[in-house]
Amino acid sequence: MFKVSLVSPNYMVGPVSQNSYYLPYGPGVLWNYAHHNSEIVQKNYELDQLVWRREDIEVLAQQLKDNSVVGFSTYIWNDKYNNALAKRLKELNPHCLIIFGGPQPPVNKKNIFQVYPYIDICVKTEGEYVFKQILEQYCTDKDYENIKGILINDRNRLTNNLVDTGESVRINDLCTLPSPYLSGLFDKIIADNPDVNWSMVLETTRGCPYACTFCDWGGLTYSKVKKFDMERCLAEIEWCGQIGVDYLFIADANFGMFYDRDIVLAQKIIEVKKKYNKPGAMLLTWAKNQKEDVIKIAEVLNQGGMRQPLNVSVQSLNDKTLESIKRSNFEINKLSEIFQMCEERSLPMFTELILGLPDETLDTWKQNFYNLYEAGNHEGIGVYQCALLENAEMNLEQVDQYGLERVAVQDYILGSEHDKDLTYAETVDVVSATKDMSRSDMVEAQIFTWYQSTFHIKGLTNYIARFLRKSGHETYENFYQTFWEFLNKDEWFSAQVQEIKIIYNQWFDNGKRIHNNVGDVAINAMNLGMSMTIKLHHDDKFDHMNDLIREFVNLNYGDLFEQDLIDELLDFQINNTIQYRNIDAGPIITNFNYDFLGHIIHNHDIKNKSKYKFGFGPYENFQSGRLNFLEHLWYSKRGNAGTAAITKIES
Ligand code: SF4
Repeated sequence: MFKVSLVSPNYMVGPVSQNSYYLPYGPGVLWNYAHHNSEIVQKNYELDQLVWRREDIEVLAQQLKDNSVVGFSTYIWNDKYNNALAKRLKELNPHCLIIFGGPQPPVNKKNIFQVYPYIDICVKTEGEYVFKQILEQYCTDKDYENIKGILINDRNRLTNNLVDTGESVRINDLCTLPSPYLSGLFDKIIADNPDVNWSMVLETTRGCPYACTFCDWGGLTYSKVKKFDMERCLAEIEWCGQIGVDYLFIADANFGMFYDRDIVLAQKIIEVKKKYNKPGAMLLTWAKNQKEDVIKIAEVLNQGGMRQPLNVSVQSLNDKTLESIKRSNFEINKLSEIFQMCEERSLPMFTELILGLPDETLDTWKQNFYNLYEAGNHEGIGVYQCALLENAEMNLEQVDQYGLERVAVQDYILGSEHDKDLTYAETVDVVSATKDMSRSDMVEAQIFTWYQSTFHIKGLTNYIARFLRKSGHETYENFYQTFWEFLNKDEWFSAQVQEIKIIYNQWFDNGKRIHNNVGDVAINAMNLGMSMTIKLHHDDKFDHMNDLIREFVNLNYGDLFEQDLIDELLDFQINNTIQYRNIDAGPIITNFNYDFLGHIIHNHDIKNKSKYKFGFGPYENFQSGRLNFLEHLWYSKRGNAGTAAITKIES
């Protein structure tokens, strides 16, 4: 029998104390398909290892060196690691057939095998059909040239050693791919690692009809969306609860696109959660253009106890940028409608922006935030630095056109912050400047993001800014500009600004991880926008910050309103932040002479007396200590952790 292994290691998911890893779903599907559908594979191969964690490379290479075939599923989180392991494996056993697949290998580059000589075959797109055929050929004729969709490293050719067999055929019927969860393929891994909390990828559809230029997923290759059958998806969700999966990631590009199916799947997730109290948390990417339907599904999940923000991934609100990245056909003109529906239904909302896209300037970047506030999102905005993914259109065709400058950075991928051994630290090429945003503007944009995240998104000044905007006395832009100038006169605050500036300058200079943990929490550079919130808790700086806010508001707006209104507005605002040192105080119930929220959201008379509850949500009866609290802020940032759930109590 020939031994075969598949390698797809990932970083740890969540805090170290959780010890959570993804089960190797992709490799599992590859092996299952080949094994279930080929007698040749059944008779000639045995599966040796499915590698899911970044083990020591030399130790693993020694274990795998007697394998005949080793396949590597490669993306930004394991590219360096996989290449180092493959190279070492080829040194130890030159006869081992090394196959690379996944989104990362540079299949568009003619010199791929000069750069990566240890790779024998590279799979260009979907792997299942192709992998089965490669295994069949390996133990028979070794004639790979008839397998569509691969690049072969033909070392016998003197000049160009690359053989391209053309485009592969897409899998028509996903039902032919047996589930690695249900087939028991992972049972041994789970049994052998009782200390691991498992995370799971659920794939209910494959493909995306859009073609965003920064993405390597949609486009022509996978433009038709294909579905797995419902019975299988429902059974996989049941399995997820049965084995106690901690974290469920739905890998679909547009969950909610098929409402009739997806509402049933959401109901099943809630049914399973009620039955097994698992999965603990989940993440998904929502459909882009079906907001009514998507909101109904989000309600099912959130009301069922699975907090899941409705994510509207605008990436930018600048029209020129949206055109350049081919996202101008998305329903972002309906943003206010969507945010309003979320607010009325108390659904958490989230919006993603990408910094460094073509045609974005420092000013349009700032306007993205102000426009999102105007549209009604004040609680969830996440920012990514634009990555130039190897096979994305932006990387292949737009770099010169938009003057995209790149730097390879560490510390971009979630989980990488836990990696102590940086020998094979993964790097991602990110945009450090464009023809419309200089390097120094890029750093300014990051600092602006950090500032907005701290004060508006994480709720130190959001109700003050909203009230002033509602009163007609202030714009968001002017409020935050004036406040910025005021804050920078404070010694402690301006020291924080200088520190973050140095970190981002160095990150864009050499891509290296150069910052310490923040309040003992390992945070990656990509998400340092969150750092101030954690620091305020850790360093007990809330009183200082609230004094500054109080002084600023009185100084600038004291003449416009009654003093007791200003005092109550500040109290309302302060109650919005859950402070660790007051964690035992929640929930807070307070009477006001004014109805701030009713006025801001529903146009109620500000002079209505009101009573509000500031709920502490997961932090009520919180016994787990400061570090866990700070880690929770960081890992639950999409759910806007650390801010109170505010509800009006009718008296
Ligand atoms: S970014 Fe999302 S919507 Fe755009 S092509 Fe990629 S998967 Fe599709």
